Amino acid sequence: MSPHDHAVPADKPATAVDEVLVDCRDAALTFGRGATAVVAVHGANLRVRPGDRLAVVGPSGSGKSSLLHLMAGLEKPTSGTVTRPAPDRPNGIGLVFQGDSLIPALDVIENTALPLVLAGVPDAEARRSAAEALALVDAADLAERLPEEISGGQAQRVAAARVLAQGPRLILADEPTGRLDRTTGGHVLDALLTAADRTGAALVVTTHDPAVAALLTTRLAMRDGRLLTVAEPQEAS
Ligand code: ADP
Ligand code: MG
Repeated sequence: MSPHDHAVPADKPATAVDEVLVDCRDAALTFGRGATAVVAVHGANLRVRPGDRLAVVGPSGSGKSSLLHLMAGLEKPTSGTVTRPAPDRPNGIGLVFQGDSLIPALDVIENTALPLVLAGVPDAEARRSAAEALALVDAADLAERLPEEISGGQAQRVAAARVLAQGPRLILADEPTGRLDRTTGGHVLDALLTAADRTGAALVVTTHDPAVAALLTTRLAMRDGRLLTVAEPQEAS
C-alpha cells in the first residue's frame, strides 16, 4: 500500500473522509542545482484528512522538515504538486517549528494571543483563548513572563500553545518535542493531540524519536528524502 492509503485510518467517520486538507502528489524538493544539488524530498505522495494523526519518522537529514515545509506551502515543489483544498481561511494551518521564537518584548500570554489579535480577534477574547491554550500545555504559570525569563523547553510549549489558540484545521509540528525532556515532550504532544481531538484538526508531527511516533495513529518513515510505506518505529532504525 502507498502512504496515501495509510494516511486515512479505517475507523474514520464517513463524513470527513472526502475532505482533503493537504494533497502531495509526486511532490519533490531539490535544493541547489547541478553537481551540488540536494534532493531533500523525492516525489512524495501523501494526503491528509481531518482527524488524521500522522508521524513522519526519520533520522536527521532525511527530509522531514522539507516535507513539512512543502505541506505548509513554505516551499514550492520543484516537481509534482502540493494542494491545500480546504484550509483556505486564515489560520487554517498552524505551524510549530523547530527553533520557534517568541517576540522578546511581549510576555508569554501576549505572544500566545498575538496571531489572534493580528487576525482581528478582540483583545479580551484573544487573551482568553491564549490562556486556555497555555493551560493545555501546562504553561499557565508562565503567562506573565517574558521570553528571556523562560527556558527553551518552556518556549517550545508556548509556541505550541500559540498554534493551539488559533484553532487550526491542520497542525504541522516539526520535532515539537526535540528540545524537551521526555516528560515535558509528552505533555506537549498530549496537548497537541487533545487540541486536535477537540477541534477535529489533523495533526502531522515529524520526529526522530520512536516513542513520540508511537503516540500518533499512523507512522510514515522518511529515508534519504523518500517517504516510505508505514513503518513501525522499531523498524525505522
Ligand atoms: P530533516 O528535517 O529530516 O533533518 P531536512 O528536510 O532538514 O531533513 O533536510 C533534508 C536534506 O536537505 C538534507 O540533506 C539537508 O542538508 C538539505 N537541506 C535542507 N534545507 C536546505 C536548504 N535550505 N538548502 C540546501 N539544502 C538543504
Ligand atoms: Mg528537521
